[in-house]
Amino acid sequence: MAFKPANNIQDLQYFGEFGGVNPSISDSSTYTFLSAKKMFDTFEGNADGCYLYSRHSSPSNLYLGEALAAMEGTETANVAASGMGAITSVLLQLCSSGDHVVSSRTIYGGTYAFLKNFTPRFNISTTFVDITNLEQVENAITEKTKVLFCESVSNPLLEIADIKGLSKVAKKYQIALIVDNTFSPLSISPAKLGADVVVHSLTKFINGSSDTVGGVVCGTQELINHLRNVNDGASMLLGSTMDSLRAASILKNLRTLHIRMQQHSNNAMYLAKKFEADGLKTVYPGLESHPSHHLYKRMMNEQYGFGGMLTIDVGSIENANKLMELMQHRNLGYLAVSLGFYKTLFSAPGTSTSSEIPEDEQKLMGLSDGLIRFSIGLDADIERTYKMMHECMMELNILKPRPEKLGLTL
Ligand SMILES: *Cc1c(COP(=O)(O)O)cnc(C)c1O
Repeated sequence: MAFKPANNIQDLQYFGEFGGVNPSISDSSTYTFLSAKKMFDTFEGNADGCYLYSRHSSPSNLYLGEALAAMEGTETANVAASGMGAITSVLLQLCSSGDHVVSSRTIYGGTYAFLKNFTPRFNISTTFVDITNLEQVENAITEKTKVLFCESVSNPLLEIADIKGLSKVAKKYQIALIVDNTFSPLSISPAKLGADVVVHSLTKFINGSSDTVGGVVCGTQELINHLRNVNDGASMLLGSTMDSLRAASILKNLRTLHIRMQQHSNNAMYLAKKFEADGLKTVYPGLESHPSHHLYKRMMNEQYGFGGMLTIDVGSIENANKLMELMQHRNLGYLAVSLGFYKTLFSAPGTSTSSEIPEDEQKLMGLSDGLIRFSIGLDADIERTYKMMHECMMELNILKPRPEKLGLTL
């Protein structure tokens, strides 16, 4: 039977302390114990259901984690103060000095910088590969490799990872496959396709209101226990803990994620088709022209569509900047990084979110100057949005009038 991530979220039942339909927020950093023995047992990790200190866990964080684990179909989850807080702690939990990571080369700039510049300080090295080439991935694995890292839909090029295929490779070499699913929540369920760990930046679609940063690691109970271990757990010791008030507000937003994702996807599909028909170089996994369109189709939970992210190439950074400024001026969205907001957000990745990646490497991965990344909003009238965007492109000569409009057709 097909995996139904939104049902799994919906089916969780929460009661607040006084019967509230939302769980009570426990606004506490520390917790009382009725006996000293119980406190000792809790420190030793032997007192299930007892709270110790909120960097370790808190009721509100556990509620949110439970819902995200239900969405991803993993045993459990641990929320973090940011996506990077989730990604860095799970990588440092699974890798020690001398270990090696194989990572997709087209990943979020912060993750790339962490693997490229930061983890080598701890003698953890990374080989960056073209994740769509399974042979190249397998060839990069050595005896020291502990982790295979990728994004289901990559940032910013929207390459699609063959999660089943990667999982086979990971299992063959007994390494952990970590998938960052930030761009495709609900649409793709990496754990169901064989990923060992699923991470998210909650900052983006999942929270969806651009008012906070947050992250999560979804995985086995064993892994999450390790992350939270008071003696050697990376989440516990590095301390990127989410605040209870934020956990409660993200949980409330999570409840409408299925409706939002459908609207983001429908709007993005509409615009992608129009842009492509206009002759713009358009990348969107929902288009037949996308090299991994059929792969995405095989992996997806169909009702959520192909997601809200698309890119177009307008030829030069000057064109990209002019277009983004004009679109913002006409209130078609914001010139801003990040994604998953109700308004469309656009940015030029080469000079913003991927600026951590050196220029020559950007070229190698196919990141061109004129690329604009769009996170398509929840616009109620996407036809109107398209018409207005089209006008901007015509005014800036990014699109030329069609021959029939010049009266050249007979
Ligand atoms: C934003 C983002 C991150 C980092 O998340 P933060 O919440 O900003 O720390 C990681 N991966 C992807 C794909 C992202 O888009």
